[in-house]
Amino acid sequence: MKSILRIAIQKSGRLSEDSIKLIKECSIDFSSNGATLKSTAYNFPMEILFLRDDDIPGYVADGTADVGIIGENVAAEQRKNVTIVDKLGFSKCRLSIGVPRAFDYKDCQSLNGLKIATSYPNILSDFLFDRQIKATIHEISGSVEIAPSIGLADAVCDIVSSGSTLISNGLKEVETVFHSEAILIAHPNLSSEKKEILNDLLFRISSIKNAKNTKYILLNAPDESLEKIIQLLPGVKSPTIMPLAQKGWSSLHSVVKEDEFWEVIGKLRDAGAEGILVLPIEKIIK
Ligand code: ATP
Ligand code: ZN
Repeated sequence: MKSILRIAIQKSGRLSEDSIKLIKECSIDFSSNGATLKSTAYNFPMEILFLRDDDIPGYVADGTADVGIIGENVAAEQRKNVTIVDKLGFSKCRLSIGVPRAFDYKDCQSLNGLKIATSYPNILSDFLFDRQIKATIHEISGSVEIAPSIGLADAVCDIVSSGSTLISNGLKEVETVFHSEAILIAHPNLSSEKKEILNDLLFRISSIKNAKNTKYILLNAPDESLEKIIQLLPGVKSPTIMPLAQKGWSSLHSVVKEDEFWEVIGKLRDAGAEGILVLPIEKIIK
């Protein structure tokens, strides 16, 4: 039987949409209607399992799934026997400690003697141990941020992205305990056939990551400006230059990071560039 790579992704939650998007950007087609637990890709040897994110490390460790997409925070908390094979750059968040706004917080030693509510007891206990802080960890599975207001704890250690949930619960963020983003994990002993499929997947993912925030840029310029413009747009290797039908003018093609583009646009025009087109890039193979 031909080998197939089983990938576990979150069924519904903050990782789901971007996980599906990433696999589809790898040109792997499958149906994801939200109701099924399993889907088979039409054009790649892959099966997709839709699971609760907390269950994914266990299933990858025991081989029920070969690879999985989860938050780094979940991997760090559960400490299952899995290999982190790639960082995926989405679902970025942090695990932070929050205390009531009125709390007179000086430094992490202010946490001594407090009762801290969290769903991440292992990560928190390492943080406290490293700083020799003696605090009580109160493990709860959800709605951690309301624990202080109902008298369940003095502080929280919870996932934060903008910080607005902490603020709306009368808390202030005082320490960052862990930085997280989505990661791809794998079973530590995949067969060589499965490893080959995984390598193909990783190659596709890297071409998508290379293209992130990168644009294709085309412009026209008088020949005497070309040298200056090439300095501004070095591209992957070097820009392509093609003569225009109009004598003394050329068309220049290159790639540019989106944020750098806004920095160089003024300089490009000052150098004589005209008719600037900026197009999206899907994939870059280096
Ligand atoms: P499930 O029902 O699958 O157990 P969940 O409620 O445990 O879902 P989500 O809230 O969907 O989990 O979060 C999944 C992961 O997304 C987290 O483990 C974390 O890595 C990341 N995450 C959580 N909150 C945010 C946020 N506000 N912004 C970005 N990423 C986040
Ligand atoms: Zn979960």
